[in-house]
Amino acid sequence: MTEPQPSSRLLVIDDDAAVAELLGDIAFGHGFETDIATTPAEIDRLAGIGHDLVLLDLTLGDTDGLQVMRLLRKRQPGVALILLTGADRTVLASAQRVAELSGFRVLGACSKPVDIDELGRLFEESKQAVVKDDTGAIRRLSDVAMNAIDEGQVHLLYQPKVDLASGAITGAEALVRLSVAGFETVSPGTWIPFIEATGRSRRLLNLVLERAADDRKNFAALAALGEISINLSVLDLEDLTLPDHIRSVLSASGAPAGWTLEITESAETGQLTDALDVLTRFRLLGFRLAMDDFGTGSSTFERLRIYPFNELKINRLFVHTDRGGLEHTRAMLRAAVDLGEALELKVVVEGVESDAELSLVNEVGCDAVQGYLVSRPVAADQFGLAQADWDRRRSQPV
Ligand code: C2E
Ligand code: MG
Ligand code: MG
Repeated sequence: MTEPQPSSRLLVIDDDAAVAELLGDIAFGHGFETDIATTPAEIDRLAGIGHDLVLLDLTLGDTDGLQVMRLLRKRQPGVALILLTGADRTVLASAQRVAELSGFRVLGACSKPVDIDELGRLFEESKQAVVKDDTGAIRRLSDVAMNAIDEGQVHLLYQPKVDLASGAITGAEALVRLSVAGFETVSPGTWIPFIEATGRSRRLLNLVLERAADDRKNFAALAALGEISINLSVLDLEDLTLPDHIRSVLSASGAPAGWTLEITESAETGQLTDALDVLTRFRLLGFRLAMDDFGTGSSTFERLRIYPFNELKINRLFVHTDRGGLEHTRAMLRAAVDLGEALELKVVVEGVESDAELSLVNEVGCDAVQGYLVSRPVAADQFGLAQADWDRRRSQPV
């Protein structure tokens, strides 16, 4: 007997019943089970009852999309959204920003009339919420991830960081994966929002800290590195006891100066003072701090000025030369390097995939790189091999 297969559930919220029906039909064609809400009463009844995706029109007659977001934030924080509007693109862009800052996973923002192909693409992407395991059964990613965290089923992969002055691998970033058959390759970017929305962020962090400490003790190639980075969620920074806790878990396998804590500001920090307190204490204890994904989300100049970072990690979106061309990329990287120099921060560029990107990063004077060109993230026992492979490639004349 095969297991019953849950399909993805969609809620369409649009005050124009005809448009809502049409959108529902398109979604049905992409395999969604669809509910439709066109009045405030229907919205109140249907919003936040476990849909995988909400298609939200911003202009709704008696209410509006931002009010609906407030309701959803209470009932189903972190749910995936696609925003729609007939208003101009600047309104759509600000609404998208509100949604992101409120912790929703915003998959797309479409102007009306809707481009059916674009919407179809977004529907297909959002179906990642429902994933096949290796027995072929379809399971909801959020359930799999929450269960894995509760059961402690996670492991870490390590991606090398290359110091550009010497060309050698001197560090690594620890990246978490689910140790569940069929789900090991799913990016944490897709399931961490569920973990955070259900209050499991600290549990995840504790598992990651334990694994990183063990791996660094047990694998010589990791033990020999100058630093290993660990990702923290901004939500973790609300706990004032965190610095002492992290020190006690990590100290057995390396001095604080050999650990970098990467902070991504994907959501607005609730308590700025607490976050600042925690980050300052990390530095006083000797840990290094990196601002992750600089240039995207809320990783802003303001944060850079306030928080005591040592390192600036430039998001990979800035490195790809296809958008806006090479000159554009060079100018952005230069600006980031200048900023890093002025603030005495180490500048690390993420997502370097090609030799051309590496030369550009070298040319503008960044300090370190991380990316598929050097190595994909690898298991702890494979790190030595990845390092040897990079050393062999870089010593070969081009
Ligand atoms: P991040 O911290 O910015 O990590 C870099 C991501 O870029 C990783 O994705 C890595 O595999 C990917 N990447 C590295 N080089 C390349 C490249 O050349 N090309 C492309 N296309 N991608 C590259 P990953 O492992 O899927 O992680 C996604 C995000 O999930 C991370 O982004 C981080 O924000 C979060 N994350 C990962 N591990 C943890 C963790 O232990 N705790 C928390 N709170 N968040 C984590
Ligand atoms: Mg990171
Ligand atoms: Mg990053």
